Amino acid sequence: MATLKAVRGTRDLLPPETALWNRVEATARAVFARYGFGEIRTPIFETTELFARGVGEETDIVSKEMYTWEDRGRADSDKGQSLTLRPENTAGVVRAYIEHGLADSGLLQKLFYIGPQFRRERPQRGRYRQFWQIGAEVLGPAWSGSDSALRDAEVLEMLATFLDELGVKGWRLALNSVGSSTDRPRYVEALKAALAPVKAGMCENCQRRAETNPLRVLDCKEAEDQATIDALPKIADYLDDASREHFALVKAALDACGVAYVVEPRLVRGLDYYTRTTFEFTVPDGSGLGTQNALLGGGRYDGLSEMLGGPKAPGIGFAIGEDRLILTLQAQAGEAAEKKLDVFIAPMGVARNAEALRLAQELRRAGLSVEVGDGFFRLKKSFEAADKLARRMIILGEDEVASGILTVKDFAAGEQTKVPRSELAAVLRG
Ligand code: AMP
Repeated sequence: MATLKAVRGTRDLLPPETALWNRVEATARAVFARYGFGEIRTPIFETTELFARGVGEETDIVSKEMYTWEDRGRADSDKGQSLTLRPENTAGVVRAYIEHGLADSGLLQKLFYIGPQFRRERPQRGRYRQFWQIGAEVLGPAWSGSDSALRDAEVLEMLATFLDELGVKGWRLALNSVGSSTDRPRYVEALKAALAPVKAGMCENCQRRAETNPLRVLDCKEAEDQATIDALPKIADYLDDASREHFALVKAALDACGVAYVVEPRLVRGLDYYTRTTFEFTVPDGSGLGTQNALLGGGRYDGLSEMLGGPKAPGIGFAIGEDRLILTLQAQAGEAAEKKLDVFIAPMGVARNAEALRLAQELRRAGLSVEVGDGFFRLKKSFEAADKLARRMIILGEDEVASGILTVKDFAAGEQTKVPRSELAAVLRG
């Protein structure tokens, strides 16, 4: 029979690597809490319409990467509906914001999420069809200050703190403003006009995007197209005074906090809902990501709530590619030292198994990490297993049970000591 495998583009995360995933998530929770964020968990699937409206029909994500299916009604009289595995989480969060009337509090909502997202992309290192994002959104009615440049800078400063606390080295913040919802269409028109006479000489992708989504032309990586793209109009020249001032305030606040950034006029990002501030954090070559060097991205989306039928609710958010963050940490830190258990208990003979489990219970309740062997193991096998799994080993034979004096072998020190059972937990903890 053919063996069954995980589906292409998906993967299993196994110990000990999952310990690193947990450390990353625990750090995110701890850092985000210090900035007043609370966790939101939205469903993994939503109506297809949410993403079509929220992310944009013209985007690569919606036009070709979504896992969509026609969900049957339960009875013949029930209408079916088109559902989709979430390709990103911002649309779901904004839907929840509207659905639960979170605007009514009048306060700024600061929400973070951690979870899998799904896109049918061509799998490669750092690009999967099920991948994980750690993201956050700050949104609310304008009178809560949700459109203030202060919030953009606060989110960026939080990301810098998060990456620094995790120990990510050499990250680079690229920053741009794509203007308001009126600046952007003016720019797109100018871009279309400038592309019309030159697009025939560009790559196939650019030719298509020049028609469907001209902003995406700026993302093109083809060497031959770069000179043409550099000569195209720049968004900075199409910003109105309010957007220009907003961007200046974001930069001034980042300067005040000592967060380094590089203004990158071509950074427009793929999703339709972005307005004003957009940003991306990358890591240097050799950080384990190959060509997929974007660690995280985000931006402001002042019109998204209204696009989804909600009240006006300016906001800003980001999504970190957790898979890529893990690859980076692994590459930058080298193979993380495997964490061993505190102790391995080796019962001598099956008759000692129950007592071994009782001793393990005692030590585990005292906060120690413990593995128990099995009385049918030969002593040599117990030693081998203990050496692989734990830093120390306790042999539990008839004499030890009777006397209450246990022998603890420390593998690193190569020493053996006798310890009364009543002092065991304290000694092992020391
Ligand atoms: P986006 O939602 O497209 O703005 O992406 C935000 C971040 O998610 C990116 O910077 C990547 O780190 C990560 N990401 C996006 N797509 C994938 C994917 N297919 N596999 C792994 N990570 C991804």
